[in-house]
Amino acid sequence: MQQQFASDNYAGVCPAAFKYFQQANASGHELAYGDDIWTQKVCDAIRDLFQTDCEVFFVFNGTAANSLALASLCESYQSVICHELAHIETDECGGPEFFSNGSKLLVGRGENGKLTPDIIESIATKRSDLHFPRPKVVSLTQSTEVGTVYSVEEIRAIAAIAKRRHMKVHMDGARFANAVAALNVHPSEVTWRAGVDVLCLGGTKNGLPVGEAVVFFDTHLAEDFAYRVKQAGQLASKMRFLSAPWLGLLENNVWLSNAQHANAMAELLYQGIKDLPHLRIMFPRQANAVFAELPLPIIKGLHAKGWRFHQFIGAGGCRFMCAWDTQPETVERFAEAIKAMCETFKS
Ligand SMILES: *Cc1c(COP(=O)(O)O)cnc(C)c1O
Repeated sequence: MQQQFASDNYAGVCPAAFKYFQQANASGHELAYGDDIWTQKVCDAIRDLFQTDCEVFFVFNGTAANSLALASLCESYQSVICHELAHIETDECGGPEFFSNGSKLLVGRGENGKLTPDIIESIATKRSDLHFPRPKVVSLTQSTEVGTVYSVEEIRAIAAIAKRRHMKVHMDGARFANAVAALNVHPSEVTWRAGVDVLCLGGTKNGLPVGEAVVFFDTHLAEDFAYRVKQAGQLASKMRFLSAPWLGLLENNVWLSNAQHANAMAELLYQGIKDLPHLRIMFPRQANAVFAELPLPIIKGLHAKGWRFHQFIGAGGCRFMCAWDTQPETVERFAEAIKAMCETFKS
């Protein structure tokens, strides 16, 4: 299939990750269930990356990473504050509630897909009686579901409120790399140094065949996590094939260059379409997505020409997602297709 803009999951495995997948296979027999040398190496590499002593676990996908991480942070009668567009709220089929035995998600409505300290404060202080599930976690998505990015200051301010209210901070980092690339900061600055307790570190969208890492900066919180992973059916028996490809991403900062490339392709697309008639950019272009509102006939026309992308926020809202391997030529052809339709469109 030609390259598309529907999802960064349309892209395949990046060569650096694939190389380690093959090496892990070539090394012959290994210990199972994560006791292998590859898994140990990746855990150490992730500790090096974040410059801290964290606990690292590997699961098959982001829904499991988020659901199990949140379940480890709160009791069933407690709750999680998140944005109304958060993946945990809209795209995980109740996984977080299921794995936490019922912890409720309390949604806030911030601009540009982001929570603010004020929004969190108002949700956290609205009720204190025992008829309401007590807020115990703040969940942030970095980069957000609408392609924006929390700054270091924003995360610090949110974590400060969370701490004051005795809440933990979870970060859904399915696109963490894209956020770090956009901010141009050290990964520790937007996580534990800013007050994040647990990070779901995305690998799949960044170029892995499969798998996400759950990184506990507060290592006490990781105490029984391995049991949760096993019970949820997320413990890979041949763990090395889930873990080893991470070495390819971590070596030579491939994770960062993959993300920088995806972000740059989104910027190229943004520049190509932002001033077109009948098109309205919906959110600031910060990570690897462009969101644009278009008339429905144009959306239909683009689909008819074979372009795939998702309509996201209501009718007319389109999400154009770039991946680690998106080619500038594909972006240019796509921008041209949109341009041709916008310039000839009669409303
Ligand atoms: C893709 C994504 C996930 C992970 O989804 P899975 O399909 O379960 O791997 C989690 N959070 C966000 C914000 C995502 O975009």
